[in-house]
Amino acid sequence: MLTNSLVELDRQHLVHPVSSFRGHEARGVRVLRSASGATVTDAEGRELIDGFAGLWCVNAGYGHESVVEAAAEQMRKLPYATGYFDLGAEAPIRLAAELAERSPGDLNHIYFSLGGSDAVDSTIRFIRYYWHAKGQPQRDQFISVEQGYHGSTTMGAGLTALPGFHEGFGVPYQWQHKISSHYIYRNPLKTEQEIIDASVAELKAKVAAIGEDKVAAFYVEPIQGSGGVLVPPKGWVKAMRDACAEMDILFVADEVITGFGRTGPLFACAEEGIVPDLMTTAKGLTSGYVPMGAVFMRDHVYETIAEGAGAKAVGHGFTYSAHPVSAAVALEVLRLYEGGLLENGRKAGARLMAGLESLRDHPLVGDVRGRGMLAAVELVTDKEKKTPLPAAVQPATRLFDRAWEQGLIVRSFAQGIFGYAPPLCCTEAEIDAIVERTRTVLDLTLEDPEIR
Ligand code: PMP
Repeated sequence: MLTNSLVELDRQHLVHPVSSFRGHEARGVRVLRSASGATVTDAEGRELIDGFAGLWCVNAGYGHESVVEAAAEQMRKLPYATGYFDLGAEAPIRLAAELAERSPGDLNHIYFSLGGSDAVDSTIRFIRYYWHAKGQPQRDQFISVEQGYHGSTTMGAGLTALPGFHEGFGVPYQWQHKISSHYIYRNPLKTEQEIIDASVAELKAKVAAIGEDKVAAFYVEPIQGSGGVLVPPKGWVKAMRDACAEMDILFVADEVITGFGRTGPLFACAEEGIVPDLMTTAKGLTSGYVPMGAVFMRDHVYETIAEGAGAKAVGHGFTYSAHPVSAAVALEVLRLYEGGLLENGRKAGARLMAGLESLRDHPLVGDVRGRGMLAAVELVTDKEKKTPLPAAVQPATRLFDRAWEQGLIVRSFAQGIFGYAPPLCCTEAEIDAIVERTRTVLDLTLEDPEIR
């Protein structure tokens, strides 16, 4: 009964992120009550494996008492301290130092935000300021990649390249440009090298068309997440990074999903052998227990801004920048990652990929891709023609519901793509269950007359 009244209150008062308001009212909310490890329990007491770690964020898994303790202790001691007026608190200072030590190259300067969107938004502001400080204020054009996701603030949503975040919102702005995604599975080019070469050529042509001296920065996700978990060819990220260096354009790696062990190492950039000029993170930073994001800047970016500002304040910051409770949580989560979770995630990720690969033979599976604990299975009705599931059946909700019935939470993208991002703490049995439950969902979908 409690659930019924919650569903009604939710319907009347709670506006859900990225949802069809009317569709949500009709379907109603599914209330989650508690969670432990990789398992969540709903209000009816039903247990499900969370194959998506909330929203690709609960990397450490649920129910770590030490994280709860870290937050409680910080709240008792000092629940809030501003970073304005040259003030600060111990936890964010220590966290910044720990992160700088572990980040690739000289990404030594860290600005803490509240999440990923405002981390991205902050980079846009810092980058504009940087080019002003360099005496090149005309460098105000930004480029990102089709199918990319960089949050949903007014400016970030325009770098995001998913139509649902643009239509009706008046973005992208004229200063926001895109190049094609690598999207290997649906790329007409045959080899990975051809895809890399084509992307570099497209970026260079785009820059030439905009004007060599007008482009401020290029944004990349090491693996595109919300666009459907699109893994670039090996060497693609590095080739794009090198092209930006050649053209004197800042390169921003958006590691909001890929950071903190999601693909294996702490940061995916390390695996690509590159150092971006700026890097954004969030999600796994606090494992979703409390909100926090972080912008990493290389020495030259920080120094240019510092020199440009001189004695003036750089007018960017939030009340909750570098929040001590979030920082205390992040420090403890970092300890957990390095105390075995990263290692477990690497092993579990290899098992997940092998398990999902075993689904390739299924008549509905067009593609399986991923790295570490970040993966996707793309469904098609005709493997030869790579025909997506019919949009009319709304694959996103239908597949999500079907997985839910099997006790599995998995992201289901509109095109009929399953996305996986399980907590790094998953046991072998949990990984196997994710794969087996997916197989059952595929079998049931094969019998669905509206889909075939
Ligand atoms: N960048 C990327 C790559 C993301 O995946 C996301 C969120 N999924 C964001 C930015 C925005 O982060 P948030 O939802 O925390 O604002």
